[in-house]
This record gives sequence, structure tokens and C-alpha cells, in this order.
Amino acid sequence: MKAFKFGGASVKSADGVKNMVSIINDHRDHKLVVIVSAIDKTTNLLEIIFEKQYTGFDYSNDLSLLEESHKNIGRQLGVKEATIIIDQTIEELTIALSQKYVNYAEEYDQIISFGELLSTGIIFTYLQLQVPEFLYVDARDIIKTDSNFRDAQVDWSLTQSKIEGTLIPILKNNHILTQGFIASDNSGKTTTLGREGSDFTGAILASSLGADSLTVWKDVPGILSGDPKMINNAIKFDDISYEEAAELTYYGAKVIHPKTIKPLANSGIPLFVKPFMYPKDTGTIIHNIHVYKPYPSIIFKENQTLISFRVEDFTFINEHNLNRILHTFTELNIRINLMQNSAISFSVCIDTDDVKLQELIGMLENHFSIFYNNGLQLITIKNYDQQSLDQMSAKREILLEQRSRHNFQIVVRNQTN
Ligand code: ASP
Ligand code: MG
Repeated sequence: MKAFKFGGASVKSADGVKNMVSIINDHRDHKLVVIVSAIDKTTNLLEIIFEKQYTGFDYSNDLSLLEESHKNIGRQLGVKEATIIIDQTIEELTIALSQKYVNYAEEYDQIISFGELLSTGIIFTYLQLQVPEFLYVDARDIIKTDSNFRDAQVDWSLTQSKIEGTLIPILKNNHILTQGFIASDNSGKTTTLGREGSDFTGAILASSLGADSLTVWKDVPGILSGDPKMINNAIKFDDISYEEAAELTYYGAKVIHPKTIKPLANSGIPLFVKPFMYPKDTGTIIHNIHVYKPYPSIIFKENQTLISFRVEDFTFINEHNLNRILHTFTELNIRINLMQNSAISFSVCIDTDDVKLQELIGMLENHFSIFYNNGLQLITIKNYDQQSLDQMSAKREILLEQRSRHNFQIVVRNQTN
């Protein structure tokens, strides 16, 4: 059994959907679980619609755009039923938009999840005609989570029992199409796994089903040593270890969602990252290997803020001060991307978030002098060598630098190469 995940870019047009179905056709001898996310930039558009409705602005044009773009794909695929499904789903979305919710995050998930419902609705009408053994399963009936909306945590044992009770019997005779990213909590309310979380759905299903592999079909040749838009000597990795892949995602490589690797590594299931336009290409395989001397990878993390906390009374940055600072970060749920301390100052690099930054300052300004810079970039070189180090440090204004045996990191002012 194989799990395939197709992202928004791969199904952004009728041709994309046809290409996906042709890939599926080539593998239909295996039992397949196919996971699809929202079409193209639909999730961003839904975020706009949600924000407008939440703040009382008119979103009717955006809603029409959402409806039309999906109907267009349905028409181009030539399946009449797609239009009916879209009409129904848009009607449900309209109802969802008019309801009252407990809070922002809960409402967000009820609205944003419609991207995946629309995409799988259309795709299923077409797929069923081409490969009739496919059945549609709503991911919310399978992937169970807590009620931490927007970043729901998986209830692994409940999910496992849903998979055993529902998916395994279906897979005896059928293939399955389902959504990435969306799930549901104990009371049946829709939850989401965090932006770009469809890869993680792929990993949850592949690991719980004991699949032979998970393949993530992407608009890139595989995992690259750097973004080719930013560096000119990027190479594609043929294979890398789970550990290496997990670290790349931690430092900000966007090719796969950071939570994807762990469940697969725990079950020893290989992850293929392959180009959907060239399905015969080998792409990259992430599995249990040890590479003696890995090639340098360069990762850019944009929208960074560097904050420094200074003590002014000559007590130095001691354990007590550090404890106070880190405790506040934990309380505000702010992730630290890089930190460094000196005798009198402690510096932290985080993803820019003005609201949280102001809260943080409010909570600590009585104890420290606080300075910060926005509009920065964090550049990480994993497995650096002299050449990559020179390439990245040249002509950049470096605000902070840190180096270990394998990693080199700098926080710099934003600039394109
Ligand atoms: N559609 C969701 C998003 O854009 C999930 C995903 O694409 O993986 O974040
Ligand atoms: Mg996506």
C-alpha cells in the first residue's frame, strides 16, 4: 500500500488534476491512499474571506472568486457533477460564515477547511470516472485531534482505531481519496493541523496504516540544497536521512512540513519527494541512511526579528535572568529560532509577530532594556564548508553570527542575492 500526497500547486488547473490522475493510474496496481490539499492559493483566499467576515467587511467578491475558480476547473474537466458539488459546498461555507463561534481560532478552522472540501469534492467526481475503485473518505472521520484549533494535536490512539475500523476494510477492495490538513476534535468540530499540514496528514496515514512509502508530489525536482531563486549552485539530494530532513525543516526549509518526518522515521517508512510534472524522475528519498560527508544546505528564513535583553545594573545575564526571559517566551508560545548570550546581553531571533513582541516587551521591560530589529533574515548553512560560508557572508550586514561544528547561522538585514 502506498500513500500519495498532492499539494495545491499540483492540482491548480484541470491539466494538473488530469496529470495527478495519470500518476495514480500508473500505480493503481498498489492499494493507494491519496491525500489532497486545497487547490493552488485557495487557503490564502479563505483566510482573506475569514478575516473580512470577522472584522465586518464585505467579502462577496472574494467568495465569487473562490466559487468561479473552482467551477472553472470543474468545467474544464468536463464533469457536470463538479458544479453541483461546488454549489453545495459554497452553500455550506456561506452558512458556516454566518454562524457564531466561541473564538477566533475555532471559527478560523470551520472556514479555512473548506479549501480541502472543495478540492477533494471536484477531484473525486473526475477521479471516480477514471479509476472507479476509488472511494471518498472525509478526513475528519479518521484524523482525531484535541481542540487546539489552528494547530490541533493528533490523538494517535483514537486515530489508529478509526483507521483500523474504517480505512483498512475499505482498502481491501478500494483505493481512498481524502483531505490533508483537516481533522476533527472529540465533539466532531473541524480542526486543522497548521498551515501546510497536508504533508503531516500523509505521514499520519502512512505510518498508522504501515504503508510501504509516502510520496509527496511537488513542483520541485526533490529536496534541494538551497532555494535556486536564492543561490545558483543548488543541487538535488538523491537521498538523505530522516534526521537530516527533520533538521532542514526545523531551520526553515519549506519543502515538507516539519511534523512529517517523525512518524515516518519511527515506523521506518521511506518518504519520496517527487516532481509531479516528471513522475518518472527519482526525486529525493528520505530514509534510514547515514551520509558520511553531507553536502552543504543553505536555508533562508525570512521575516525575522532580533531582540536583545540587556541588564543595566552589572548583575550580568545569569541563570535567574535567563529563566525569567525563557519563561516569558514559553508563556507567550513564541518559538526561538536562534539565541546567544554575552555577559550583559541575551539575544534571540524569532519569527516576526508584532502583537506578541509588544506583549513580550510589556512583560519584561521592568527587568531589562529591550532593543529589537525587524525585517531580518536568518540564514543557516547545514554542513558548511569554506565556500558556502564565504558565499553567504559576503556583502551582508551581519547582526549576529553563530557557528558549531556542522552549522553556521547568521542573522542579516534583508536583501536579495
Ligand atoms: N491547504 C493548506 C495550506 O495551504 C494545507 C496544505 O496545503 O498543506 O496551508
Ligand atoms: Mg499547500
